[in-house]
Amino acid sequence: MEFNNFHSSKCNQIISFENDEKCGEKANYNYFNENMGEYCFIHKRKNMVNLGITHCYKNKCITQPSFSTYNEFFYKQTGNIEFDYKIVSCKKHIQETNREMLNCIKIYCEMPYCLISASFNNDKRSSGKYCKKHKKDGMFNVNVRFCLEKDCFNVAKYNDMVPLVQLIDDKIVKNQTPKPEYCLIHKKETNVFMDYPICKQVRCFGVAQYKYDDEKQVKLCFLHKLPNMIKVGNSN
Ligand SMILES: [Zn+2]
Ligand SMILES: [Zn+2]
Ligand SMILES: [Zn+2]
Ligand SMILES: [Zn+2]
Ligand SMILES: [Zn+2]
Repeated sequence: MEFNNFHSSKCNQIISFENDEKCGEKANYNYFNENMGEYCFIHKRKNMVNLGITHCYKNKCITQPSFSTYNEFFYKQTGNIEFDYKIVSCKKHIQETNREMLNCIKIYCEMPYCLISASFNNDKRSSGKYCKKHKKDGMFNVNVRFCLEKDCFNVAKYNDMVPLVQLIDDKIVKNQTPKPEYCLIHKKETNVFMDYPICKQVRCFGVAQYKYDDEKQVKLCFLHKLPNMIKVGNSN
């Protein structure tokens, strides 16, 4: 689903002024009409769009599509959804396509002909398999981050803080931002409370409070915020 003329490149954001170190993540973002990415998701400037994805079919609509055409014959035969992505549309422009479309981002219940979101599965850390109506005995709601301890259904809020960039055997290893795994009762000795958004800049564990006004989630802390980002939430 990539544009033919899109060239992948590396993020140009300088993350350390001491040695001009650049972010270097995959840079998919730039202004519409450019054909070269300049920044990654974390460092994209306001109004920059993801050039590495297909946008809504409507001319000049830069919204990432979440609806798509699907194989109606296959659906009628089997009850399972198979998307064909011939036309993709954002939610706003779906009526104008005059085609029947379904949400291609949502995970549907595996029960044939069921079009409800799948949010239940056996494993606390897997994606959903069945909807609430069709879930099997002993399945959990995977949208709730439960403590990993067996039979514990407290919300997980504690884990170890790991550096996002580590040097192991002279190789740079990048880690994912740690997510909470245990509740207060089952937390390990080294675990810390982490029920707050963490700055997504590498090597930073500051509280993320800044984003652009058209973004859903806060991304960066006070130190790493980018020009014209707004502050979200109360100040300390
Ligand atoms: Zn970057
Ligand atoms: Zn659109
Ligand atoms: Zn279902
Ligand atoms: Zn627990
Ligand atoms: Zn930060």
